[in-house]
Parts: sequence; C-alpha cells; structure tokens
Amino acid sequence: MPLIPNDDPAGLDELLGYLGEIGYGELYLRRPDSAASPAAGLREAPGETIAQTVAGLAAAARGATGAAGAAGAGAEAPAAGEDAGAGAAATAADLPGEAAATGAALAALAEAVAGCRRCRLCEGRQRTVFGSGDPRAELMFIGEGPGAEEDRQGLPFVGRAGELLTRIVEAIGMTRDQVYIANIVKCRPPGNRDPQPDEVAACRSYLERQITLIRPRLIVALGRIAAQTLLGNDLPIGRMRGQWFQFMGVPLMVTYHPAALLRNPALKRPTWEDMQQVRDRLHAISA
Ligand code: SF4
Repeated sequence: MPLIPNDDPAGLDELLGYLGEIGYGELYLRRPDSAASPAAGLREAPGETIAQTVAGLAAAARGATGAAGAAGAGAEAPAAGEDAGAGAAATAADLPGEAAATGAALAALAEAVAGCRRCRLCEGRQRTVFGSGDPRAELMFIGEGPGAEEDRQGLPFVGRAGELLTRIVEAIGMTRDQVYIANIVKCRPPGNRDPQPDEVAACRSYLERQITLIRPRLIVALGRIAAQTLLGNDLPIGRMRGQWFQFMGVPLMVTYHPAALLRNPALKRPTWEDMQQVRDRLHAISA
C-alpha cells in the first residue's frame, strides 16, 4: 500500500495541504502532477467466486431483494444509472484477468441499479449513483446517499464535500482512483433528507454485492447514517468514530462525513486522526 514516502513531493504536498486545513498552519507549496501507481494486486477469493457473483447479478437485475440485513456487522474490538454502468464497463475493459471480471460484474450490477424501482427514491432521481473507483480497491468509502450534484452527474461525492474527500484520500498517500466510493442508497433522497429504513433495506443488497465483488481490505463509513446502517445501531457518531468495527468480515472505521467537516471545521482534526488509523492499518496489512 503506497503511503507517503519522505522523498515523494507530490504526496507530501497533499499531506501538508490537508494538515494546513485541519489547523497545523497555512502551507503553500507548488502542487506537482501526481501519477501514483495503481494499488495492489489480486487477492484470494473469499468464499464466493466471480462466476457465482456474476450469476447473482441476474437476480439483482430482476429486482430480487437481497439477503443480509444487519448480518455481518458488529464491533471488531471495543477499543479498537446507465451512466454508471457505462463507466464501470469502460474501466473493466482496461483491466486484465480477474480484475476485468470484477469490473464487468460491477458494470452489470450498475446496469441493474440504473433501472431499479424497488423504492420511492426512484421517482425523484435524475440518475442513479452506483459508485466509482478501482474495482479491486483495498480501501472503500461508504457514505449515506447522493446529493443534488451527485444526482445530476451520476457520480458519488462530487462538489465541495467530494473535493474534501479527495483531499482526505490524498492525505493518506492514495489517489481517488485507487479507492472505491459508494453510498448506502443509490438514488437521491428528496431535499437531502436521511434515507428512510425501508429505502435503506431495499437498496442494501446492491451495496453488499459491491463489497462482495470489490473485496476491500478496509471500509470507512462516512457519517452517522452510513455507520448506523452498516453497524445496525443507533449510536451517535461521536461514540463510533475512531473505532474499528467489522462489516461483512471487513474491518470498518467510522469517521465524520466530509459535509460535516465543511459545516464544522473543528471536526477535521479528529477525522485526520481516524484516517491515520486507516492508513496505518492498511500499511500493516500490506507489510
Ligand atoms: S434507492 Fe436503491 S432500491 Fe431505491 S430505487 Fe434507488 S437503486 Fe433502487
């Protein structure tokens, strides 16, 4: 896992920029073009083969309700639209072997989501927002749901909150292309309200299928709604953040949503502390 080496001015620039944002002082450095190498090789299959997963997509395309519920979630250690389908297909064409199969399976799932009408959120959407990033990402971010700009573009975490998430990713020595970003629900709740329980339940199997396909090493839940949904609790974000949990067997860190950081810059520092834990754990996994 690429961290920020001392002799990497691009990565150091990003880190210093972010540290400036969270209160370590204003730092003005030239931002060189970064061309970080893609993350990671392939990992061993964890119980479900790509063929099985692709077969499961047929059920998703028919609108079958997925299983799961809150199964698989829990504390690890108390202390511790059509547009989307096209984008995923393009990514798959560029990847070899198993990674291409994963990309193709994600593209098929994105197509199923683009036509989904399982819940009322389909009525107000302009586009579904399936997710974006590396189909074989080691790190996956999960937010709550699309906002107005995401709904317009069909992409997750665009606009100011998305730009801040990009900087957070870069602050731990990665690029946005190296991670995968998705949401609990794939259609925008009207007025940016919280998704309702029946909407979350209707959409849940899509996210679980994404996780099964991507097989991230770590997940970061962004904000209260994402964390409560994945972990099946009603705890306040302040009691969950900075803690390691598990979801579908994957270690999961809870931190603040970037939009919350925009509203309250004081949250940037604890978020940085959470992300340092994520960076260090990824480093330990890859060591
Ligand atoms: S939010 Fe999810 S379940 Fe509801 S219509 Fe959109 S894709 Fe389907």
